[in-house]
Amino acid sequence: MPPSDDGFPAETHSPSETRLLAADFATSLRPGDVVALFGDLGAGKTEFVRGACVALGVVGEQVSSPTFTIVNEYEGETLPVYHFDAYRIKSQDEFFEFGYQDYFGGDGVCFVEWAERIEPLLPDDAIRIRFEHAGPQVRRIVRL
Ligand code: ADP
Ligand code: MG
Repeated sequence: MPPSDDGFPAETHSPSETRLLAADFATSLRPGDVVALFGDLGAGKTEFVRGACVALGVVGEQVSSPTFTIVNEYEGETLPVYHFDAYRIKSQDEFFEFGYQDYFGGDGVCFVEWAERIEPLLPDDAIRIRFEHAGPQVRRIVRL
């Protein structure tokens, strides 16, 4: 099979390389898209969202995993960006009761860190990306 031209699979060797990969990828995103990010702590999910946010025109906002809320919301140039992190979600019910349905498939682009925690709630057409440690500074990033 010839390598795909969407940038995946990739092996990045620095946080900035991961951000650049994400920025390139993010130019293809449309309102309603859900990007599900799989992988362990420190695997680069948040760096990826940071890079994507640059490409989506998020300016002057700190992009970091939502810790005390379920979602962080950023204003992109043409659409809102919703940044979820399911790490601290105690059950899928919690995500459900929060009303995630209003975000997925809505007016903006959604990124979900720790997507494995809410896998059954992901839409069938979610874009799934897995992050793996491949060395201290190396991350293997695969589109599933
Ligand atoms: P996650 O959100 O998956 O827990 P983060 O993006 O918050 O991970 O953190 C990734 C950590 O790994 C950061 O400290 C970053 O500096 C470091 N790092 C080292 N190499 C890379 C790389 N190639 N891509 C992304 N992050 C990297
Ligand atoms: Mg994170």
